[in-house]
Amino acid sequence: MSKEDMWIKVQNAQTIAIGGHVRPDGDCVGSCMALYRYLCMAFPEKKVDVFFESMPTQFAELFEKDSYQIGFKEALDQYDLFFSLDCGDKERLGDGAKVFEEAKETICIDHHISNIGYAALNFIAPKASSASEVLYELLDDTKINTDVATALYLGIAHDSGVFKYSCTSKRTMEIAGVLIEKGVDTNTLLDQTFYHKSYVQNQILGRVLLESILLLNGKVIASCVTNKIMKFYGATSSDLDGIVEQLKLTDGVEMAVLVHEIEPLVYKVSMRSGDKINVASIAKHFGGGGHVKAAGCTMSGTYYDIMNILLELADIQLNKRKERK
Ligand code: 5GP
Ligand code: MN
Repeated sequence: MSKEDMWIKVQNAQTIAIGGHVRPDGDCVGSCMALYRYLCMAFPEKKVDVFFESMPTQFAELFEKDSYQIGFKEALDQYDLFFSLDCGDKERLGDGAKVFEEAKETICIDHHISNIGYAALNFIAPKASSASEVLYELLDDTKINTDVATALYLGIAHDSGVFKYSCTSKRTMEIAGVLIEKGVDTNTLLDQTFYHKSYVQNQILGRVLLESILLLNGKVIASCVTNKIMKFYGATSSDLDGIVEQLKLTDGVEMAVLVHEIEPLVYKVSMRSGDKINVASIAKHFGGGGHVKAAGCTMSGTYYDIMNILLELADIQLNKRKERK
């Protein structure tokens, strides 16, 4: 599997679809839009479509509204090539999974440790900061213009917590440097998409922090957002971005858990951890996945049932460490 194999597949395709995971984040939107812009520029004769389940408002301003599609309603019955980006498993493509399966050729570009390589051609680098970083390595950087660079920078900055998480390597910074030279307005981009919060986002952040509880002697912090609370604030799931990271910043905490009701007795679970707990392995138990220090899954039951199970798994990992010392 090499970069050349990918470009041969691109050359051979007349119709190309690009899709990422459900509930898109900065890396998903950034990598998909970067590839879309690059392909449109390098291959103007090809039909290239990019799809998202939704477009979080903080990213919408960066991209022309008619350049991407929300949902797969307008998708062709069959594409010559489907690119899956930042998506650890096929199911997380949501409605895109069907389009992926129908495509003649498939390529996956990702950085999730849990990714088993579900496409025909896979570029998976679990140590990379982001799918956008993996994508950058596959592009010809002499062809990267300001628009492509802006989308790549968005993805890398978001998935590295603005170059803070341990996934940020020397290479990540080198790539960021190249992208800055391409003319990315980093200050505006980071303020607009990362630091600025809407009133609703701040309200719900406050509520989640206020209702959080410490467990396992302060090693775990957890909070739950019900549908009722979401409705009360008029919040959407993308308004919860960054909240679990804020919980994780609490002194002494090894694992932060944000449990978000998506339907009665069904919850989306987001986890963040420090050095002592591998949350990807916990998420995997429940059909989810992600990274060692940032992972998620969907679980059924009440908030208390879910926390009981997660605490047991966290406790096993915390105690194993103690026993080894
Ligand atoms: P978040 O907590 O921000 O939703 O996700 C953290 C990380 O775990 C992300 O890299 C995300 O892609 C991954 N992740 C979250 N939920 C799931 C899931 O249900 N399945 C899989 N495979 N990965 C997930
Ligand atoms: Mn990512």
